[in-house]
This record gives sequence, structure tokens and C-alpha cells, in this order.
Amino acid sequence: MKVLVVEDEQGLAESITDYMSKEGYVCETASTFREADERIYLYNYDCIIVDLTLPDGDGFQLIQSLKQFSATTGIIIISARNALEDKLKGLEIGSDDYLTKPFHLSELNARVKSLLRRRQFGGHTEIRFQEITVVPQSRNVYVSGQHTTLSRKEYDLLLYFLSNADVALTKVSIAEHLWGDNIDSADSLDMVYSHIKNLRRKLLEKGSGDYIRSIYGIGYKFGLP
Ligand code: CA
Repeated sequence: MKVLVVEDEQGLAESITDYMSKEGYVCETASTFREADERIYLYNYDCIIVDLTLPDGDGFQLIQSLKQFSATTGIIIISARNALEDKLKGLEIGSDDYLTKPFHLSELNARVKSLLRRRQFGGHTEIRFQEITVVPQSRNVYVSGQHTTLSRKEYDLLLYFLSNADVALTKVSIAEHLWGDNIDSADSLDMVYSHIKNLRRKLLEKGSGDYIRSIYGIGYKFGLP
């Protein structure tokens, strides 16, 4: 997997590439708009991580030109700008995710993983994990071929788990995934708990293995025991 990091703060660019390289990604960096623009014209990337404020240009413009060359590259915006307009604009022009600085590198890594997995899912009509099958087009879920009725949030939660298999997810990131920015922390953390409890019960009832584990003090992880 090849990742381009477009970031003019050198320290941050280095910590991202160090971290991502250790995670097994091939990382390249660009510290200016011009350099980044040239790279995306010349090379293919699975994902680009792009800062919005560059010394010689704007990250949004870069995303727009990237979209012309490669529609398949995943795009994650990293920015100190926390305005809703920026987030919306980013999504509108085709970026996949938006992370506000400062952030934990593990969070960035989780987002990149999830993005790449979602993109991989895109090529398939079904997502499978052991005896669980999800058909995204119809939002149907089966356990060993048996249909399972899930609520919308339980379904979203299952898909989020599947696209982050073996990744420790914090309760907050799960809440953000389910409710976006409109989360009221205490309430939504309780709701995460109850949605997980229900999802787990419904899957177990149909004979699924027990794949949701809680990690004390952190959150949850979905995967083989
Ligand atoms: Ca910057």
C-alpha cells in the first residue's frame, strides 16, 4: 500500500511517515503544493493524507486535481481547521475522511486502514467474516446463511467493525462513526454500549462466533478470539 503524506510541518510529516512505515505502508512525502501536485501526476497512490494549508497553495485544490488523475485514491484531510464548512467542502469534493489536528497517529492509522478496507469492499458485492455475510447494497446480514434483522445503528456498527477487524476502536471513535459530530459524549457512550450489546446478542443468537471483545479502558475490538 502506497501512501503520500502532504504536510509542510516537517516534524509532523516525519512522525507520520515513521509510524506508517512501521505499519507496513510505503510512504512518500511532499511539503509543498507544487511537489505534491507533481507527485500525484506522476505516481499512483492508494491513499493521500493531505494538509489543507500549504505554503504555496490549498489542499482542496490539490484534491480536485487528484480527482482528475485518479478516482480510486483514498483521501484523508488533516487540518488544524476544525470548521464544519471545511469538513463539508472536503467531503463534497471527494475526500473520504477528515482528521482535526492534533490527532494520535494510531487514530490516523485506523482511519487509513478503514478507508483502504472500505475501498476494497467496494469491489465486492458481499463482505464476509467467518460465518457472517453482509450485503451492503441491500443492507442485509446473514449468519451461516440465516437472515439476521439488525437496526440501522447495529448494521452501521457491524460494518464499522468489519472494516476495522483486529483494530482497537475507542468508544469515542465508534460514537463519532455512528453519530458524526452531533455526539453528546456521556449519552452516546452509553448508547455505544447498548448497541454493541444488542448486536452481539443478535449475532450470537443466530449461531455466530463471539467476535466482539471489550478492551478495558479503551473500547472494543472485532476479530477472532
Ligand atoms: Ca500546514
